[in-house]
Amino acid sequence: MNAIDLLAQTAKEAGCRVLRNEPMCLHTTFKIGGPAELFLTVFDREAVQKVYRAAAELNIPVLPLGNGSNMLVSDAGVRGAVVAFSGAFREIDLTGETTVECGAAAALAAVCAFARDHALTGLEFAWGIPGTAGGAAFMNAGAYNGEMKNILLRCTHITKTGEFGSAEGAALSLGYRRSVYMETGATILSLTLQLEKGQKDRIARCMDEIYERRRSKQPLELPSAGSVFKRPPGFFAGSLIESCGLKGRRVGGAMVSEKHAGFIVNTGGATCADVLALIEIIQKTVLERTGVALECEVKTIG
Ligand SMILES: Cc1cc2nc3c(=O)[nH]c(=O)nc-3n(C[C@H](O)[C@H](O)[C@H](O)COP(=O)(O)OP(=O)(O)OC[C@H]3O[C@@H](n4cnc5c(N)ncnc54)[C@H](O)[C@@H]3O)c2cc1C
Repeated sequence: MNAIDLLAQTAKEAGCRVLRNEPMCLHTTFKIGGPAELFLTVFDREAVQKVYRAAAELNIPVLPLGNGSNMLVSDAGVRGAVVAFSGAFREIDLTGETTVECGAAAALAAVCAFARDHALTGLEFAWGIPGTAGGAAFMNAGAYNGEMKNILLRCTHITKTGEFGSAEGAALSLGYRRSVYMETGATILSLTLQLEKGQKDRIARCMDEIYERRRSKQPLELPSAGSVFKRPPGFFAGSLIESCGLKGRRVGGAMVSEKHAGFIVNTGGATCADVLALIEIIQKTVLERTGVALECEVKTIG
């Protein structure tokens, strides 16, 4: 038995769903990505601990997966184990008058709807971001003048070697599309959000308006990973790319969106190599013509 077989066996015994060579294009909003050597779905904390401890002992890399909405996965796939979360990790609870606790795998949309239904304000900005709560905390996702940083009180996590822990406040190191988890590599298991009392109808109206702004500006009809680049200080990536005449530029099945130049869309059959080549063209052209260096927001995996 090799190391992967051993991890697969441990995961199975711990009650995980175990898949081999699972195409990652089925798990990313870009619809791009080769096979994950091992694709595990974990349903509870004990199983996560068994899997993470075994992976560390066997020296197998582990990649936590949310909704795959900020990932560009290599055509060659992912070596080691991709870990998806379900079951208990999808739960959302009201734990205080204005505090909400949710599992890392809860869809951000479900958490937003939960907050609205309990007349809690503060999370409206996230309506329409197609990630999980865990992915949003990891990325410090934000939009329309809001960001996770404003409401994220605390995260619980598991380290790469299988120790449970938590972080809150400054220890979360939340910045523009940045969190402490990018440095430690620990996996977020749950979040506590501090919201405020609001009015249900006003919250609902605000969410509708935000969704309408998204729908009118973003190419939601085609697979993508959202904005490819971070916002460079003092500029908007989309406007810079558009000003360089790159809207509609293609490499293979990848294209700079005609609707929003900050998005690369998969027009059908795009490979990771296509997207990477297009990113390189955009970065080179924008740098030459405007002097601005664009940095990727999307995480390249594998
Ligand atoms: C149409 C569209 C619109 C978007 N609009 C926005 C927007 O307005 N604002 C914005 O900020 N983003 C936006 N995004 C990007 C994306 O939705 C966010 O970055 C989101 O927070 C990613 O969450 P996810 O669960 O999909 O993470 P994934 O894509 O699955 O993972 C992203 C990274 O987080 C890590 N990760 C995931 N879960 C965990 C965990 N539990 N613990 C530790 N690490 C973890 C992964 O390993 C990976 O490195 C958009 C994307 C799309 C497709």
